[in-house]
Amino acid sequence: MKKPSASVLSAYGENTRLVLAGRDPERFDGFVNPPVYHGSTILSPTVKDLLGRTGRYTYGRRGSPTSEAFQEALCALEDGVNVVLCPSGLSAVTTALLSALSAGDHVLVTDSAYSPTRHVCDVELKRFGIEVTYYDPLIGSGIAALMRPNTRLVYCESPGSLTFEMQDVPAIAEAAHRHGALVAMDNTWASPLYCKPHALGVDLSIQAGTKYIVGHSDVMFGTVSASAAAWPNLKRFTYETGLCVGPDDIYLALRGLRTMSVRLKQHEANGLAVATWLSQHPQVSRVLHPALPSDPGHALWKRDFSGSSGLFSIVLQPGPREALEAFLDHLKLFGLGYSWGGYESLAVPFDCTPYRTATTWTGGGPCVRFHIGLEDVPDLVADLDAGLSRYAALR
Ligand SMILES: *Cc1c(COP(=O)(O)O)cnc(C)c1O
Repeated sequence: MKKPSASVLSAYGENTRLVLAGRDPERFDGFVNPPVYHGSTILSPTVKDLLGRTGRYTYGRRGSPTSEAFQEALCALEDGVNVVLCPSGLSAVTTALLSALSAGDHVLVTDSAYSPTRHVCDVELKRFGIEVTYYDPLIGSGIAALMRPNTRLVYCESPGSLTFEMQDVPAIAEAAHRHGALVAMDNTWASPLYCKPHALGVDLSIQAGTKYIVGHSDVMFGTVSASAAAWPNLKRFTYETGLCVGPDDIYLALRGLRTMSVRLKQHEANGLAVATWLSQHPQVSRVLHPALPSDPGHALWKRDFSGSSGLFSIVLQPGPREALEAFLDHLKLFGLGYSWGGYESLAVPFDCTPYRTATTWTGGGPCVRFHIGLEDVPDLVADLDAGLSRYAALR
């Protein structure tokens, strides 16, 4: 089987690209998948070749056929100039930030950012003399008023972590670019299938690959895809800081990527079914899910995204902690644990009040974030129904 050229590949539909991109069976004795190359040293045939770095591969840290296969496959989905691989999603966030910012710069960060991202900004960026200002995720083109002469980057996450506010990313990108700043976006919720950040004007598109790309809760992984404007600094920073990922983890991420489309369709359908059921339950005061028509971010979601994933939150009617614990502790199908994007359903109670500084969170009751897995919806609903009865009994 011949490897398709980049132009042939780009003419195919997305699912076909997901199957073909990054594969070259002819090169690997017909094996469907690229092999896992374990290696640091790469031998050169001659001194001239060694010192002139004329070989395709020079050192394990700088790439192998395994890492290249993943990069090609992800580029075929994200449409960036190129992509770097990181050992976790948080490492991808930090890499994007540090590649674009220098001492004396100013960065605008959405108030709805993933809380460890905020921590990196508050502790590490400040330590390097980078100023950080948080902004209201709903600010849109109003971001222009927050720009300072030294603003070099606007950081978005849409929808926001825990509370799922949709951002007007094209309006933010337009204002940022007019000012000469770059735009980064954490696109983990939608995955590279349901949102194309570069088409919205984003320069650094971040994925916690740990979630839907890997898809089986068994690997930590992250990626940053860059526009032409962001690529030179991202490439240099990644090389110079020695960032690389072990080949077994890259292989598992690539295997996950191949089936991401069918998995996501099911996460989307199950997530919408459970969210809709929850939105009609008397113990639930709000469901935070931008694909529900009642959600305040629905119009932006519809305009900029082509699908939704299985992650959303609810705000319960006010109740004591014992009621919340009675609800969640005895669920049979929802695990209590961090991360998400695997095949299994999860629940995490949260209070985002400490993680909001530019805005004030007014949920009004205990909050729970759910990840809806690939189980049967009636089983999930029955489990939640029993849990909400336990909640109601202790309110
Ligand atoms: C989980 C997550 C991350 C971090 O990914 P890790 O692989 O756990 O480091 C970053 N952003 C978002 C939105 C996440 O949900």
